[in-house]
Amino acid sequence: MELKSDYFLKPENFSGHERVLLFHNGEVLHRNNNFFWPAATVRDICTGTQQHSLIVGEYSLRPCVALGLSDASFALLGAEKASLRQLLFNNEIEVFAAAGKANQLLHWYDNHRYCGKCGATTVLHSSERALVCTSCTLNFYPRINPCVIVLVIKDDEILLARHVGKASAFFSCLAGFMEAGETPEETVIREVYEEVGIEVDNIRYVRSQSWPFPSQLMLGFFADYKSGDITVDGKEIAEAFWFRSGNLPVTPASSISVAGQLIELFLQRFELRERNRI
Ligand SMILES: [Zn+2]
Repeated sequence: MELKSDYFLKPENFSGHERVLLFHNGEVLHRNNNFFWPAATVRDICTGTQQHSLIVGEYSLRPCVALGLSDASFALLGAEKASLRQLLFNNEIEVFAAAGKANQLLHWYDNHRYCGKCGATTVLHSSERALVCTSCTLNFYPRINPCVIVLVIKDDEILLARHVGKASAFFSCLAGFMEAGETPEETVIREVYEEVGIEVDNIRYVRSQSWPFPSQLMLGFFADYKSGDITVDGKEIAEAFWFRSGNLPVTPASSISVAGQLIELFLQRFELRERNRI
């Protein structure tokens, strides 16, 4: 029986209005920097492959769907590839938002072909964005992994760290995954202590960002220094220092990440405070 779903759609059933995002081995496909493919092109290539596209949402008032291509379909298409990070750094904001969500969904879809409980194959759920086990009927939903990212403040200084293994010379905020049973505030306290050996308090939420590499939700916080001296763990953090406004290292751009936005917000508030003092 043909599946009718709000979340999955076979290419042969495209209406023609869809904007299609195509992926191959985790990279986004484009032709001359056009990332949204015409539905007809994709229908021609994928009809008969038994694949379903994943319905991502509505972008520019048109439905957007995503599909991961097999090697054979990719060879047939003759497309160029870009990484999600390239889209982000090139400021392709609209494409990045759609492709980021699409990538999360495809990653979930690719990684749940079999049931984690009984090992049987899964099939598409008929009415939800879920995969369902053909044997024990367990459902699998797209999973988001929450992380905290925190800018630690000590009077007029902020703590910025350079991560181990990153080729860039970027200094950024501290960050880490939430563990089962933790509140975000508890994660902030634990991560800061583990990574740089200091204690923080007065933790306040600022803003968040979906970070589809592959499926994190970054929750951004400010926290105040409480006690201790910087002692980097050497595993995740290579070096960390207190920096003053006007004497900052290279940091992430605020147009790209919540880390950059936290730093920029601190600088704006700091400047405002200084101005009001005069
Ligand atoms: Zn099962």
